[in-house]
Amino acid sequence: MDIRFYNTLTHQVETFKPIEPDTVYMYNCGPTVYDYAHIGNFRSFIFADVLRRFLELSGYTVKQVMNITDVGHMTDDQLADGGGEDKMAAAATRLKASKKDGKALVDNPDDPYAVAEYFTNAFIDDAKKLNLRIADEYPGQMPRATDHVAPSMIPMIQSLIEKDHAYVAGDGAVYFSVQSFPEYGRLSGNSLDNLRGGAGGRVQDSHTSQKRHPADFLLWKPDATHLMKWDSPWGAGYPGWHIECSAMAKAVLGRDTIDIHTGGEDNIFPHHECEIAQTCGATGNDRFANYWLHSRFLMVEGEKMSKSKGNFYTVRDVLEGKVTGRPVDPAVLRFELLKGHYRSQINFTAKGLADSGSAVQKLRNAAAKWTAFLSGADHIGKKYSVIDDFKSALADDLNISAALSVLFTWLKHDPDDPSEAVPILMLSNQVLQFLDMGMTTSVVGGESGTSEGGVTLLCQDLDAARDDKDFGKADAIRQQIIDAGYDVKTTKDGTVASKRLA
Ligand code: AMP
Ligand code: ZN
Repeated sequence: MDIRFYNTLTHQVETFKPIEPDTVYMYNCGPTVYDYAHIGNFRSFIFADVLRRFLELSGYTVKQVMNITDVGHMTDDQLADGGGEDKMAAAATRLKASKKDGKALVDNPDDPYAVAEYFTNAFIDDAKKLNLRIADEYPGQMPRATDHVAPSMIPMIQSLIEKDHAYVAGDGAVYFSVQSFPEYGRLSGNSLDNLRGGAGGRVQDSHTSQKRHPADFLLWKPDATHLMKWDSPWGAGYPGWHIECSAMAKAVLGRDTIDIHTGGEDNIFPHHECEIAQTCGATGNDRFANYWLHSRFLMVEGEKMSKSKGNFYTVRDVLEGKVTGRPVDPAVLRFELLKGHYRSQINFTAKGLADSGSAVQKLRNAAAKWTAFLSGADHIGKKYSVIDDFKSALADDLNISAALSVLFTWLKHDPDDPSEAVPILMLSNQVLQFLDMGMTTSVVGGESGTSEGGVTLLCQDLDAARDDKDFGKADAIRQQIIDAGYDVKTTKDGTVASKRLA
């Protein structure tokens, strides 16, 4: 089966051919840990996770790296050479003011490493809840930029200077020379002319007197007073944001050219354009990544969800019920963030989340019917046409809507043969992850209680149906819970289900 992806670099859908036949090397731009990642950020991370899991379902081994940006990301980084305030410094100011349960979030908010550590851990917690497969495979899978300044970034900057792709400007800073790299602009469709200072406002004017070309971007900023600083041949200072991903991809994946590089659409320019110039400049190779995949934004009422606009929800906000007024199962949020095609912007709404809740519930109900069969199912080497169709849809530039439609059409026909249905659910779950979270213990054969997961959701739905006086629906849901192996009781706190013994 051919896999095809839309490659931002070539502006066309291409057949995917990894450099090695069985292994895919992939780099994903990760979070800047100066705050909690919001669910828009998580859309791009879940997209990378779905991509990885689909490639694995297709038989590849995937070497995946997602970095942690804990230095060098400035508040004006939509500009090619960055500027404004260091995001970590801004975080310290904010953190001093924020408290949870009367306690400061971070013991020492003036220590940028403590701020980074706090939000890195928060990110990993959220990522685990949403079943992102990171940080579990091999050392360094989530490299921190601060660990790579001396061993990887400084040597790469040196090599760029030696090859005349970079220079030390009058202000002492090291810049990449965009004129030394004729391909600059290919990814984003920019030309050097339209990137001149002022044109399009995408290049910062304040540095231009020091630079050979206004679009030249910062590799190293000497600043002995900066919050986080390292010794370098150009004085104590800190690296530009873009160099970190070029350096870490090479250091951690161990390759000059990788197969896939992903990020959100706002990473195309300047970040990824600059990454290509740096890596290809330093290695002399034509390509940094052969396939560049970019997910579009998660929107709120027609606007990009973003920290600066304040129109965002964090993962914990959603799971704790800030959107819906009641707790949300992580699988439902994951489903909501993956169900739209990655190249379409999607609007985040409470209604969408509720629809995702119903979809996840349908899949779980199906799984619940076959609880007894789930753990022993053997699908190795067998073929299922539903899974073939599911995979073919995903092979078409990750057409998730088509893949989901295959699955739900199959479910609608009420499959009744567990020897086929169980593997289909398990294989599709490898990508979607609707079972592996709260529901794992309560419906998929574990012994734990009924307080989490799908049965709890069903109980809530039953209560909601009763409140709406839709007694037919309430009865049907009650029956579903009973069929899943639970006794149902109505209490003053609502419906409670407990697992039937033997
Ligand atoms: P940051 O933490 O700002 O470095 O962003 C991490 C990732 O989230 C980047 O790949 C961004 O492109 C992506 N991103 C930021 N905002 C959104 C959004 N509203 N929807 C989808 N992806 C986003
Ligand atoms: Zn990056």
